[in-house]
Order: sequence, then C-alpha cells, then structure tokens
Amino acid sequence: MSTVTRLTPERAEPSPGDHRRAFGAWLDGVEADLRASRQSCRTLDGEMAHNRRVSELLWEQGFTRWGWPPAAGGFAGSPLLRAVVAEELTLRGLVHQNIFTMPEILGAGFAALASPALIGEHLEAYLTGRHWWCQGFSEPEAGSDLANLRTRAVRNGDVFVVNGQKVWTTLAQYAQRCVLLARTGAPGSAHRGITAFLIDVDTPGVTIRPLRGMNGDDEFSECFFGDVEIGADRVIGEIDGGWTVAMQILAFERATIFWTRAAWLLERLGALLRRSSGGPRAAALIGDAYQQVAALRARSRQTQYAMAAGRFAAPQSSVDKVLMAAAEKAVFDAAFELLEDEFVTEDGEDAAVWRNQYLYSRAASIYGGTGEIQRNIIAERLLDLPRAP
Ligand SMILES: Cc1cc2nc3c(=O)[nH]c(=O)nc-3n(C[C@H](O)[C@H](O)[C@H](O)COP(=O)(O)OP(=O)(O)OC[C@H]3O[C@@H](n4cnc5c(N)ncnc54)[C@H](O)[C@@H]3O)c2cc1C
Repeated sequence: MSTVTRLTPERAEPSPGDHRRAFGAWLDGVEADLRASRQSCRTLDGEMAHNRRVSELLWEQGFTRWGWPPAAGGFAGSPLLRAVVAEELTLRGLVHQNIFTMPEILGAGFAALASPALIGEHLEAYLTGRHWWCQGFSEPEAGSDLANLRTRAVRNGDVFVVNGQKVWTTLAQYAQRCVLLARTGAPGSAHRGITAFLIDVDTPGVTIRPLRGMNGDDEFSECFFGDVEIGADRVIGEIDGGWTVAMQILAFERATIFWTRAAWLLERLGALLRRSSGGPRAAALIGDAYQQVAALRARSRQTQYAMAAGRFAAPQSSVDKVLMAAAEKAVFDAAFELLEDEFVTEDGEDAAVWRNQYLYSRAASIYGGTGEIQRNIIAERLLDLPRAP
C-alpha cells in the first residue's frame, strides 16, 4: 500500500537563490537544536538517528520535497533546489555529508527509472528517513568488473529466486531496502543480462554482516542471499535492463553529490585554517588544497546545471569523480601534515574526527569506481583515445 503524504507547496517553484534564502532563514531558528542533536551522537548509530530526525523534519516542512516526483510526495521542480538545501546544511556542519546525500544516489536513480507504482510505494519512506536503502552492486570478484557479477536471479512464476553475495555494501546493516543487481541472463551475458531489483532486506534468506573499515566504523557490510524470493513487480526498469539503472545510479554517485562534497571540504579547510599556526608550509598546503576544491566546485556547478537540464551524459561524471578524489585527498593530506602531533597522540574528540576523516579520504579514489577506471572512461569515451590493451 502506498503511504505517500500529499502536501501542496505554499508558493510557486522558487529559484535556487530564493530557496536558499528561505531555507537559510528557517534554519537560523533551528540551527542550535540541530547542532546539539548532532553533537550528542558522534557514533555511526547516532549519526543515522540524527540523519533520520533531520530528514523527517525537512520533509515535513517541505524544504526537501522540491525536485522529487509528486508520486513520492514531492513538489516536482528542479533538482538544484535539493542541492542548495544539502549545501546549506553541510556548510553549517549540521549533517553527516555521506549519509545525508545517499538518497541523491539511489533515490534519484530510482526516481528516474522505476515504474510509477514502485515510486509511489517506496520512495517517500526513503526520502523522509523512515527507511534506509543500500546499494548491492559490488561482489568479491566483481567491483571494477561489475558487468561480470555472479549473483543470480532465476524466474519462477511471479517471483525471482536470488542466490549470491555482495560486499562493501555501505550501511546495509541499517537498511530496509536494497537496490540489488543480479544476473538474469546467461552466465556470459555480461552487462546485457543484469536486472535491478528493489529488495526488502528482511526477506528470509538475506544475511547481513557488518565489516569494519580502517577508520574504525562499521561503514559497510557483506550481504548473502540464499534462495531469496523477490516479486517480479520489484524489478526496477526492464528485465535484463539493469545496466542502464546501474549506470544512472553511478553517474549520480560520481557527480551530483559532489556539490555538497565540495561544500564539506571547504568547511573542513576553514576548520584547518583556524587551527593552523601559519607559515609558508601551511600556506602552500592549504592553498593547494583550496585550489583543488575550487576546481571541483566550478566543475560541479556546471554539472548540476547540466543534469537539471537533462544535458549530462554518464561518462562525463568520471571527470567530477577524479577531481573529487584529488581534492579530498589534498585537504586531508594537508590536515595530516599540519596537525601531525594531534593525529598521532591526542585522544580528544576533535582529533578522533580528523583521524577518521583522513582515513576515509583514502577511499575517495575507490568507491563509485576507482581512479584508474575513471581515467580509462575519460580516455576512451570522452577523448576518443584507443582502448587500454
Ligand atoms: C568506502 C567504500 C564504500 C563502498 N560502498 C559500496 C556500496 O555501497 N555498494 C557497492 O556495491 N559497492 C561499494 N563499494 C565498492 C566499490 O564500488 C569497489 O571497491 C570498487 O568498484 C572497486 O572494486 P574492487 O574493490 O573489487 O577492486 P578491483 O576491481 O579488484 O580493483 C583492484 C585494483 O585494480 C585496478 N583495476 C581493476 N580493473 C582495472 C582496469 N580494467 N584497468 C586499470 N586498472 C584496473 C583498480 O583500479 C584497483 O586499483 C564501496 C567501496 C568503498 C571503498
């Protein structure tokens, strides 16, 4: 049954600037409460609970409904309106950037390609924070080589029966739903024989085991599927058309969310600058990192407008991904060098946060497709260079 809550917008679709002003004015009034809520819960469990509170509040107030389809309780309109809300929250440090922007990856891909019935049934619960979704793409032998994934979904009347394993599934232990890629074609069918499903994680036969990352967080999980039945009505897009869904979602993962990633990196650089004791080395490191974040931000602005206008092709997102990984590493390399003693010896919460973020930044050139793969895509698809041998 659909649970969509209808709310009529109080005004016509605002411009991004007007939306930012209205949201910022409202945020001024609740900022202290949101800050206290976030500061009281620095664990992953706490961040997830805080994210749910913020998502629910913003949806109730209508600010995050812009840019999402009415079938999911949204107000329609430009996705740029979502970007300015996420940016304002991030610049003020009121949300965990990775967590808050996840619906921009899975939710946006789902909104673009799922049937109206599936959207009406499931998307709003995700956007309000009542549900959490995870991305079941990578497998032990299929990360970069995603087209050769082995998890199988075999049709049996009205259901598909799924068997296989996924790995590195971000925050799967909190999820109610998983966007799952499985092979429905013959074993050698590569990208032509893959289907995307929206699966309930509490279906019998699904087992989730959290994995600890080097930053100490149980950030991702391995997921096992043993004779898991999923209704044929849970196919996203077309049967055997899952590659299109995957490429759409990966384009969002490699591009849309970097507008707020750049805002977060700017906030981090500001924090580093305030703690730095100055000098030429600090100026060089912070200046270099700033240039890289500025380049990411300039590229990302262009990307946000191109996406909003429907003028953005998936391979272009590889440029954004390469810039993002370089900028993020530059910011945290600078922090590592300038806060060296703190990184190594201090136990305080601030030091722990810097350490955690430094270690996570090493993954920036892996998730969403590695740096090598992005450079191959840029070379072959954008620059028309010969294929790598
Ligand atoms: C923090 C984090 C979160 C993640 N979250 C998720 C998630 O939620 N859902 C999900 O499905 N996956 C997730 N992943 C997995 C991620 O998508 C994969 O790690 C990534 O695609 C690389 O795959 P792999 O780890 O199997 O490495 P491999 O594909 O085995 O690559 C190993 C190395 O070989 C290189 N290489 C491989 N093929 C080529 C080639 N053709 N040319 C040149 N170099 C090559 C790679 O660049 C890399 O350096 C996450 C990963 C991380 C680090």
